[in-house]
Amino acid sequence: MGKLNGKVAFITGGNSGIGLATAKLFVAEGAKVVITGRNQTTLSSVAEELGANVLAIKADAADPASMENAVSSGVATFGKLDIVFANAGIAAAPTPLGSTELSVFEEILKVNVTGVFFTVQAALPYLKEGASVILTGSTLATNGGPERSAYAASKGAVSSMTRVLASELSPRGIRVNTLVPGATRTPIWGKSKPEEAARLEAALAPAIPLQRMADPEEVAKVALFLASDDSSYVQGTEIVVDGGAAAAPLGAPIYRQG
Ligand code: NAP
Repeated sequence: MGKLNGKVAFITGGNSGIGLATAKLFVAEGAKVVITGRNQTTLSSVAEELGANVLAIKADAADPASMENAVSSGVATFGKLDIVFANAGIAAAPTPLGSTELSVFEEILKVNVTGVFFTVQAALPYLKEGASVILTGSTLATNGGPERSAYAASKGAVSSMTRVLASELSPRGIRVNTLVPGATRTPIWGKSKPEEAARLEAALAPAIPLQRMADPEEVAKVALFLASDDSSYVQGTEIVVDGGAAAAPLGAPIYRQG
């Protein structure tokens, strides 16, 4: 008996990284899943791999009309909607103070903040009591990483929005929570070659108590918890999945004595 038997999930950014790992896990747990993204090639290959339980739709998360169409196509195909994972996000280029173009800054906010809000708004007409909405934040919202003003602000906004949306939707019995990943091994880092990915991880791991980046499957398992009835009394909060980097930084290897 899967934890999501009979449920229908809508996952933005379901063709890569955390969203893809979550789509696979949700299907394995009995759900039917609508995935969206912009890359038709990866959308099609995921749909082919996961079969009839997945509907892949090319849709821009930053375009409300596109999200409305995607949600209604998903409902037309699978009959209803129980879970929304507004996960699509971009890190894009760094936004250092002093040399950042307005368009770069605004694009990050458009996808990561406005896109998340309008994804949930598009889904809302179909959500019923017991539905679960999950947003994807980031530990960069709180850790003050240099040259990440736009991304950090966008993810801080996601966490703030979670609390607002939870208060608005509580009367309808709909839950809203944020998953807050730390450094996770996905394409968002732009390290397509294994040696580049290994260099990145070697640089980051000394500051992480568990001494490594996360696999997207480890983040997906927390999305499953938030999506399923196992988290039926978890509302308006965040779950951090970062190997201890935010809560226990002094446990990181860089602080350990010989
Ligand atoms: P990823 O592999 O690059 O996935 C990002 C996904 O978002 C892709 O499927 C991408 O699809 C989709 N996407 C981006 N912009 C979109 C748009 N305008 N419309 C539709 N889809 C769009 O990276 P990931 O790490 O899994 O990222 C997932 C979420 O986790 C993001 O919100 C990210 O900020 C967050 N996060 C990641 C980390 C990490 O270390 N990996 C840490 C903290 C938070 P297309 O390319 O097809 O558009």
